[in-house]
Amino acid sequence: VRGTKTTVLVNYFDELAAGLGEKIRQAKDGEVARRRFALEIARLGRRLFSGEDKVAWCGVLAPFDLLNAMGVTSCFVEFVGAILASSGNVAALLEEAEHAGYSTDGCSYHRAVIGAALRGLMPRPDFLVATSAPCTGGVGLLENLARHFRKKIFLLTLPQSNGERGAAYLAAQIEKMVEFVSAQTGRQLDPERLRRAIEYTNEARALMAEAYELARAVPSPVRSRDLKNFGVVMALFLGTEAAVEISRTYRDEFAMRCERARHNPPPPRLRLLWIQNRIQFKSPLVSLLEREYDADVITDELNAITWEPLDPDDPYTSLARRMLSIPFLGPIEHRIEELKKLAKSYRVDGAINPCHWGCRQGTGARGLVEAGLKEIGVPVLNLEVDCVDPRNFSEGQLRTRLEAFIEMIGQSRRN
Ligand code: SF4
Repeated sequence: VRGTKTTVLVNYFDELAAGLGEKIRQAKDGEVARRRFALEIARLGRRLFSGEDKVAWCGVLAPFDLLNAMGVTSCFVEFVGAILASSGNVAALLEEAEHAGYSTDGCSYHRAVIGAALRGLMPRPDFLVATSAPCTGGVGLLENLARHFRKKIFLLTLPQSNGERGAAYLAAQIEKMVEFVSAQTGRQLDPERLRRAIEYTNEARALMAEAYELARAVPSPVRSRDLKNFGVVMALFLGTEAAVEISRTYRDEFAMRCERARHNPPPPRLRLLWIQNRIQFKSPLVSLLEREYDADVITDELNAITWEPLDPDDPYTSLARRMLSIPFLGPIEHRIEELKKLAKSYRVDGAINPCHWGCRQGTGARGLVEAGLKEIGVPVLNLEVDCVDPRNFSEGQLRTRLEAFIEMIGQSRRN
């Protein structure tokens, strides 16, 4: 689709980027990290919709640094679902998908994207790359998009074990993916460009690790919106200078806030862990936490770094190891252990799990996640929220539950 609808979106991203650039230039307090991150998202949006770049629609775990090194603008489709939700225009697209037969029991990230494709709002890709984790629903969506756009798709199948055999099996597929991408784009992978991309990834990883270390401080320099969708979306910029710059900006901003807090300590606040996906449409929950209950979401499950730096001499194996390190793969005990580590290292008072409707990771695992965190004294508030679909969002009910939860953890902290 290279028509009027996509031109409108290109203009929208251009205006957004210009506005953010201006605000960053004018910021006098040095607080620019979130805007710098948003600016890169706007630039990505432009490249995806402009028709000037080679474009790939992908699964969440695709090796974006490798695709960046091959000159392909790529994005996991669920992020488009999140953007559509935050734009406030997602309901009509969900209805479009439902009228076409997509069940409301499925994940609304996927339904939103199919609705957008059916309405001609998704740019036609040059090819697609699906990943069998974190969910096979994403594979089904990409297969349907491949049919819709009549484009070829490559599937990366992640084994359920993260041992060396699994890494070798996946590394061989990544190598084949490179051949597939070359065949679709007519571009070969330049080994020097790949080496540079890996250096950028490792540099960004080190800076992100420093930023997260600062985030663990008491009081934490993190406010609830700072790191929303951060880790998962940063994967799109890995392998580029932009990833390094964004990570450095966050590291510096958190260091500056820690320094300020040392000179002028703020009153104590409750510290929360957010499990899996944030609520993507506009909702008052996070503001309520911040303003009325003196509580901040200081870490997100999806922001943890679970992988080692990449090895420039063995890039495919180290990319495979990174993909296999995600806690959403293999037995649930692994994910629970990672959550416990996160909760302990950030010294959180409680955790919020929105239990995204239609997601086995979100809803299916809720009881086990709650029991696991209870073992280390971290209470979990399970909500029944669809993170993308605002149509059944019941603000009053959620507010009451949030209030009771905060009261309970506040009481146990006082005790
Ligand atoms: S929320 Fe769950 S079902 Fe939806 S894309 Fe993410 S992992 Fe898949």
